[in-house]
Amino acid sequence: MIIQKKDYLFQDVKDLKGVGLQLSKYLKNKKIEKIKDVLLNLPYSETDRSKLSSLDKLEVGKIHTIKVIVKKLIFPRIRNLPNKIICENETGKIEIIYFNSREGYLRKIFPINKHIIISGKVNFFNNKYQMTNPDYVTSLDKKDYVLKNIQKYSLTKGINEKKYRSVSDQVLKNIPKIEDWLGDEFIKKNNLLDWNTTIIKLHKSEESKNIKSKSYRRLVFDEICANFLTLSKNRKRIKSKKKNKIFLKKISSSIISNLPFKLTSGQKLALDQINNDLKSKTRMFRIVQGDVGSGKTIVSLLTIANAIESGYQCAFMGPTEILSKQHFNLAKRIFNRCKINIEFLTGKTEIKKKNIILKKLNNGEIDLIIGTHALFQKKIKFKKLGLVVIDEQHKFGVKQRLDLAKKGGKDCDVLLMSATPIPRTMMMSLYGDMDITKITDKPSQRQKIITLSKPEKKINEIWNFLKKEINNKNQIFWVCPLIEESKFLDYSSAKKKFDIIEKKFPGCVGLIHGSLEKNEKENILKKFLEKKISILVSTTVIEVGIDFPNANVIIIENSNKFGLAQLHQLRGRVGRGNKQATCILLFKENLSKNAIKRIKILKESNDGFFIAEEDLRLRGFGDLTGFQQSGIKNFRFADPLIHDDLFKLAENFVLNIIRDVNEKKYNFLLKLFDKAEIMNIEEV
Ligand code: ADP
Ligand code: MG
Repeated sequence: MIIQKKDYLFQDVKDLKGVGLQLSKYLKNKKIEKIKDVLLNLPYSETDRSKLSSLDKLEVGKIHTIKVIVKKLIFPRIRNLPNKIICENETGKIEIIYFNSREGYLRKIFPINKHIIISGKVNFFNNKYQMTNPDYVTSLDKKDYVLKNIQKYSLTKGINEKKYRSVSDQVLKNIPKIEDWLGDEFIKKNNLLDWNTTIIKLHKSEESKNIKSKSYRRLVFDEICANFLTLSKNRKRIKSKKKNKIFLKKISSSIISNLPFKLTSGQKLALDQINNDLKSKTRMFRIVQGDVGSGKTIVSLLTIANAIESGYQCAFMGPTEILSKQHFNLAKRIFNRCKINIEFLTGKTEIKKKNIILKKLNNGEIDLIIGTHALFQKKIKFKKLGLVVIDEQHKFGVKQRLDLAKKGGKDCDVLLMSATPIPRTMMMSLYGDMDITKITDKPSQRQKIITLSKPEKKINEIWNFLKKEINNKNQIFWVCPLIEESKFLDYSSAKKKFDIIEKKFPGCVGLIHGSLEKNEKENILKKFLEKKISILVSTTVIEVGIDFPNANVIIIENSNKFGLAQLHQLRGRVGRGNKQATCILLFKENLSKNAIKRIKILKESNDGFFIAEEDLRLRGFGDLTGFQQSGIKNFRFADPLIHDDLFKLAENFVLNIIRDVNEKKYNFLLKLFDKAEIMNIEEV
């Protein structure tokens, strides 16, 4: 097949010379599908084969390159015995061993009495040096192919170094000259490299192994740009023109004046920004980020009030039945004096009721529908849906957000709420397609949660404290990392702990964990909400969002096993009321330095945004949990900690090029990082 230069890099690997069906299958297992993927598969180290070793100075277990004369080939006629080739030179003797190799082939590459070059790992057996299945055997005239530093790639079954080299060498030789989308001036000014040089350097020098090297940084910059550019393009499409809207806010003003509290300045600011979106000619696609307990629900409901008053229907979705139900009850209370029809819909709603709801949504009798994912079934048709609010959406990826935006139609505003503060560097990579509102303060009467740490052996001191709390009608969370006692892990089990606590406080304790059915889980949470039990022992399954105004104490076992951000999320389950709340971090002896730091930070700060930054710093990007689903792990090369400056640079760069009419020239970049597919999603 003739390969056209222009599209060479985006051809299938099987179009390469010497790559058949089998090899292309193996390559694809390694995610090397297109020719450009060979370029993005960077070597992780080098093997020095450049120096010839004398046979009396070999080191067992090391790779050596030797120049020897072939003396004798031995092909035993007994099965399972290996073929043997005796070689020597003036410094000694060595045996080359082959299992499962054809005689004809070996005779060809080991010509008797000729000099050859062999490279491979040396072992010692029966008092002799041996080399088993050497990596390279070559004649003297081809020695330059072997005698050098050879790049080491991570390989899988079916591909060895020699085979892979034939692939990568071929591609590296044939890279077309790319017209660089960054431009010389930009490259120079920011101390980067041009693309073609970058790729060659990454494969032919040490630079790929140093993530701070110039060429590695250039690749990182490209990767970040591709990511940001995708989001920016998404944004451009999502934020389409919408129909002119009337905008009224009488109802919400009256609700605000009747609230038992004053809105915080963060809440007010959020409402201002949201209202501007509602009024504007482009649709809203906004995420409100506010720490647990910052009061996002009321912001959602006030937004909903405005949209309804302005003549639209609204949908308010929560991640679970129980949280949605809580929102529903609150909405009914808040809207009780307004003529707003509210309904509740989940997967469990019985058919008869559901059908009535569907009909009423369709003819516009329902103004506000609250529920779970069930709200987005295909069957559901709204008469005039104007606003979708989604609570606790941090598990949605880019693609899901896009789908969501599609569902409501072009005129529908979208508002997301999240209690997961994101470090600043990651903001753009996660939410670059959205407008972002941060609520950074909390209701003023709220007291700082007292955070204590305690070694586990002093657990007895806790029982009295709990007794007092229970007598004062307070409720307690007890969090353990695993469900069942594991022989291998030194974690406490929730089940075992439940038994212990139940003995001390009979009839007062509930247990909830990840392997319970959703229904059972929600039942237990309900019991806890209704104060039928005082202590809830749990693994980390309780999702954020549910308002437990009466839960005042949280005890976290093995707290050193949790990350900072997760501990903060867990802690946020208490202290939502106005009473003083306490968080006790239990730990086993011998805390690591890092664990001590984490505990110290938690004791000092209740600020989720600050904690998110510290978490990133302490744990490193690779270890951050909770971001897998959200797409942050999409970075193969970039590390927000180490390449912080490049993230900033890319942000500005992309904001500039997104205004560029000539943005087609960046398509290559998008294709390089497999973003083209996302971009082809039909218009929303
Ligand atoms: P989150 O931001 O985690 O979703 P919620 O909206 O559930 O927080 O609010 C937590 C609690 O704070 C609720 O009980 C709510 O009534 C209360 N709250 C919200 N805003 C204020 C405020 N401005 N002043 C006092 N309490 C507030
Ligand atoms: Mg909430």
